[in-house]
Amino acid sequence: PIDMESLGRDFGPVRALAEMSMSVRPGEIVALLGPSGSGKSTLLRICAGLEAPTSGRLLFAGVDQAGLAPHQRDVALVFQHYALYPHLSALDNLTLALRYGRRMSRSAAVARARETLEMLGIGALADRRPAQMSGGQRQRVAIGRALARRARVVLLDEPMSGLDAKLRVELRVEIVALLRRLGSTALFVTHDQSEAMAVGDRVAVLNGGRLEQLGTPDEIYDRPATRFVATFVGSPP
Ligand code: ATP
Ligand code: MG
Repeated sequence: PIDMESLGRDFGPVRALAEMSMSVRPGEIVALLGPSGSGKSTLLRICAGLEAPTSGRLLFAGVDQAGLAPHQRDVALVFQHYALYPHLSALDNLTLALRYGRRMSRSAAVARARETLEMLGIGALADRRPAQMSGGQRQRVAIGRALARRARVVLLDEPMSGLDAKLRVELRVEIVALLRRLGSTALFVTHDQSEAMAVGDRVAVLNGGRLEQLGTPDEIYDRPATRFVATFVGSPP
């Protein structure tokens, strides 16, 4: 339930985003694909409320998000560079966010946190601190911390960068399964075309802050709308 209406964002002379219009259906996963500097993170930060658009409108479930702070929005953001509290266990990293962000009681937060860690296959690591886990396990905790809130809209900005190829594939399969199970509406940023095609119900190809094409992976690959899309996704000529 995301509607972007001609969103724009300028940073001084730099037009990071221009006339971005897109509707994402409830429960849909849209992969945002584009080269470095194409505006992917800017778009996510606008959706999260960390950045205000210079122009245009953003609606979640029909509600204009203008002026709403991040914590007032029904969104969760998984960053490129996640930061867990090093002195807290995996469980406490999740419960802290739930107790103070969502004002849940201790027992409800612990139950939710345990359930979420289980869903990510790291229930057994609940009492470990980040330093006592592998990079992939830490990334799972960070994803769990975002998803524990059960926000309707989930924004993921290259959530698996820094992991090796095998782990990336493994983790993205798990993330997609989890998003489906929770019924989340998600925007998944990547600059890897095969990842975008694997993750997205539809793929949005960005270039220079503009939407080049929005379509299913098949449409994007078989019927690229522009030369840029064809080249970027490697369609046959
Ligand atoms: P990457 O794949 O490298 O993460 P991206 O697609 O996420 O790239 P953005 O971070 O959205 O790209 O940046 C889009 C454009 O806006 C770039 O030209 C960038 O330099 C510019 N930009 C982004 N944030 C700022 C800022 N806070 N101040 C000035 N310019 C910015
Ligand atoms: Mg980025």
